[in-house]
Formats: sequence, C-alpha cells, structure tokens
Amino acid sequence: MDLFASRSSRMKASEIRELLKLLDQPDIISFAGGIPDPALFPHEAVREAYDAVLSGDQAKAALQYQVSEGYLPLRRWLAGMMGGLGVACDEANIFITSGSQQGLDYLGKLFLSPGDTALVMWPTYLGALQAFNAYEPRYDRLMPDGGNMTPAAYRAAAAVTGGRPKFAYLVPDFANPTGQTLGRKQREAVLDLAGELDIAVIEDAAYRALRYDGEHEPPIQALDCARSGGIDKARTIYCGSFSKILSPGMRMGWICAPRQIVEKLVLMKQAADLHSPSINQMVIHRVAETVFDTQVEKLVDAYRQRRDGLLEALEAHMPDGVTWSRPDGGMFVWLTLPEGADATALLERSIREARVAFVPGSAFHADGSGRNTLRLSFTLADERALSEGIPRLARILKG
Ligand code: PMP
Repeated sequence: MDLFASRSSRMKASEIRELLKLLDQPDIISFAGGIPDPALFPHEAVREAYDAVLSGDQAKAALQYQVSEGYLPLRRWLAGMMGGLGVACDEANIFITSGSQQGLDYLGKLFLSPGDTALVMWPTYLGALQAFNAYEPRYDRLMPDGGNMTPAAYRAAAAVTGGRPKFAYLVPDFANPTGQTLGRKQREAVLDLAGELDIAVIEDAAYRALRYDGEHEPPIQALDCARSGGIDKARTIYCGSFSKILSPGMRMGWICAPRQIVEKLVLMKQAADLHSPSINQMVIHRVAETVFDTQVEKLVDAYRQRRDGLLEALEAHMPDGVTWSRPDGGMFVWLTLPEGADATALLERSIREARVAFVPGSAFHADGSGRNTLRLSFTLADERALSEGIPRLARILKG
C-alpha cells in the first residue's frame, strides 16, 4: 500500500508464525511457545489483591488515571529490588511499562534513527528485532566472547547506511532463544565495547529470577554503576518483567535507567498510552510484596524438573550430529542440527507427520542465518511431551 510509511515495510508476518497457528489443534505436542505454565500462576494472590484494591478508598486510585512514570509504591518497591541486585537507585530511576516488550519499543524509538546500527547477538530475542525494526536500523553482530570486530570497524560499517551504532541489546541471563548466560568476563567485555563506542547497553532481564543451578551473575547494570560512579552516570538500561514470575496477562514490566532517560520515556508514554493500567500496577505491587519470593521458588522447582526431563529425553533419543545447550535457567534449550539441515522445512514435516512443534532458529537471526538451529521450550513439557513428543521429533530429525 503506497500510503504506508517506510517503517511498515519491515513489519511482516513470518512463515513461521503461519505454521505456529496450527498449534491450537489439541493433538499437537508443542515445545514452541515461550510461555509460563498457567497452572503455576499465583491466581489466589492475584484475586485477593484485586479484591483489596477495589475495596474502600483504594478503588478510587485503582480506577483513576495515573502518572505516566507509574504507581509510586510499585516504583519504590522496584528501586529496592534493584538495590538488592547491586543497582543503587530510587524511584526517579524506575519507569513502569506495559510488559517489557513496550520498553523495547520505546528504547528503539528513543535511540534509533533510520540507518542507525543496533548491536545484537546472533541469535537474539525475536520480539526485540520486531520492536527495533519499526525504527529502520541496520544490525551488526555483538560478540561478548570476542570476535574480529574492532570499534573502528563497527563505526565504519555503521557509516555506510548514514548512521552510527546506538546501543547493544542483549539477554544476558538464560537467553531467549539459546538459554545461554554470560559470565562476568563477557559482561565486562560488553561494557568495554559500549564504552569505546560510546553507546547504550540494553540489558533485557526477562528471565533473570529463573535460575535453577549455580550462582546469580551481577546484572550488567550493577557492573556499570560500579565503574561509572552510579546509576545516573551509567550507560546501561535494565528492562525487567513480571511476566515470567507473576503473570504475562497483566502486562507489567519496568525499566531501570539513568533519570535523564526515564524523563524521555515518560514523555513517550504520555504520547503513546498515558500510563500502564492503574489497577494492574496496584495489584502487581501487592502481589509482589507478598508472594514474589515464594513464587520464584515454586517456579524454580517446577521448571528445573522440566528442564532436566527435557535434557534426559534429548540425551536418550536425539540422533548423532544433533547438539544442544544445557541452560542454568530460563525456559529454553537450543538445538543445533547438522550443517545443511533446514529447521523451517523440518517444522512443516514435524507438525504434519509427528504432531510436534518447535520454533526454527532462523527467526532469531537478524541476518536470516541459523537455518540448522531450533528452539525448544520446556515450561509446558509434561510427562507425555517428554516420553512421546521427543522420540517423535527425533524420528523426524533422523529423516
Ligand atoms: N524479553 C524477552 C527476552 C522475552 O523472551 C520476552 C517475552 N517472550 C519479553 C522480553 C517480553 O515480555 P513481556 O512484554 O511480557 O514483559
């Protein structure tokens, strides 16, 4: 359509989404969606919190407009939580979003002019690419393990499309889609590069609390604050989410950032949707205060078992030549098939012949590579999924 702005040209339904529409059919065993197990939602606590905020005087605030930066007690609670992670900050550094996905959209809008460069890992979270695409960037590859790109080479490549590198975006804990977690050295390396390029770092911490083994790594933002002398001098923007712990349906996330960035985001939110729903902010605050830690424990126990079950099933059934990640947390295991395999073509066969679904890995690559990779989510992997689904998938992979 001639009337559409150029930014809409990169908004396309993918062939993968079309295939995944078939997942509603009841006989399909799906490892595709990266969604929490609804049986583990804290629905009692949420119901009680809605009752409480709709009772008496609180109801007036719950049903009223709210300031764009978000409900103050929730922002204070989050500032305390960030303090516990090593990011000393106060409510002026916290901005409430309608899911962390909205935060990614706003950050794309804030930083990217058409032709600017966003550094992302290959693969990276598909929803981040979709959010950033609307602002017409080019992508370059972020390599926290080191690579052959010098800062000068990044700058020169960025100049070709008339822009400059603006930020590095990454999911450092139990990444979507690979399950990979960056160690301390890699986190420091990202900050080194960002310092040399003088760009922002967007730390997407959607899965951070879901650690099943080992010790938590410090957030990149905490390392940055230690180097730069405090949150307002830092270059890292932390995107948090309540979706994986409490409820994705309530659409509650937050950004922790230097206050000059929060001030810009507030103006954006005024223009976009004024504020996130008042009632949900008040409910999330109550629920977070009462059950956040026990909810994390409950999820960690349940998902650890499912991750272990999936890893055992892969070990037992996968053919030679297939390798996979062994994540310490999160929701995903990442499979690499032999060179030349095409996971998108395999998905079609897998749905038709084996009634098993997964997400092909090319969707997560900004350059369309990774055709021989795929993502499995284990959050809904019950006994049947593991004992029937994985052997059936293995038969498809064996050809
Ligand atoms: N970041 C990552 C890495 C994700 O996997 C997701 C959800 N799949 C999001 C952000 C967005 O989550 P939400 O908007 O529900 O907070």
